[in-house]
Amino acid sequence: MLSMRNLSRVYRTDTVETSALDQIDLEIASGEFIAIMGPSGCGKSTLLNMIGLLDSPTSGSYRFDGEEVAGLPEAKLAGIRKRSIGFIFQSFNLVDELTVRENVELALLYHGIGAGERARRVDAVMDKVGIAHRARHRPSQLSGGQQQRVAVARAVVAAPKLILADEPTGNLDTVHGEEVMRMLQLLNAEGTTVVMVTHSPAHADYAQRVVNMLDGRILQERRRAA
Ligand code: ADP
Ligand code: ADP
Repeated sequence: MLSMRNLSRVYRTDTVETSALDQIDLEIASGEFIAIMGPSGCGKSTLLNMIGLLDSPTSGSYRFDGEEVAGLPEAKLAGIRKRSIGFIFQSFNLVDELTVRENVELALLYHGIGAGERARRVDAVMDKVGIAHRARHRPSQLSGGQQQRVAVARAVVAAPKLILADEPTGNLDTVHGEEVMRMLQLLNAEGTTVVMVTHSPAHADYAQRVVNMLDGRILQERRRAA
């Protein structure tokens, strides 16, 4: 599904140059569930943003679905993101001016889907993650566990082939964290590729492959026995 070769990302300010990603080689096949781990500042979020076409490499190659995407203009990248990728963040990133239902529906706008079909899909996905009874609430009226379920619904409503999750359980207690992990596991079982950044070894155990990073490099990869 995607392949990075010799990919680097350097952040430059007036005085400092940070090599956030340093000659990364990474292949991810369709249907995989991957956990990215490593100490704070090692480049996990930069790598996830790169995979999700939210950031562009300073050098190197990145093929997404067979197409070279390094250097594509933002409008093209935005199109691929909208069609193919769902994002889940540690801090949920919901829009509090909108209801739960509107937050989920937002991800379906501009997909050329009629209002009736949109409503049907939004209802189905809210049911699936167990948040239908909160459809008219604002995100701030929900518990953290419920907010993350809304964020999962928003990420998957357009049926992306790839889900990227940046510490999705980082702001949740153990019970609600496990709940989110089981949702990701279910989505993966249904065929969606999942790439997740986590600090939790227990949550990394849900993945089939764990990528360990250090100082912008991939230090080690291990596959879990099936
Ligand atoms: P992690 O997610 O593993 O904590 P990050 O990917 O956020 O690490 O950051 C990797 C490195 O790049 C860090 O040294 C960080 O300070 C630096 N960095 C990240 N984003 C920026 C930015 N926008 N500008 C400058 N440096 C950045
Ligand atoms: P869950 O276990 O479903 O995540 P919690 O046990 O955390 O829910 O919360 C219990 C109930 O309190 C939930 O129905 C939730 O909607 C409600 N609740 C939590 N936080 C708030 C809040 N800030 N304002 C209003 N209701 C809230």
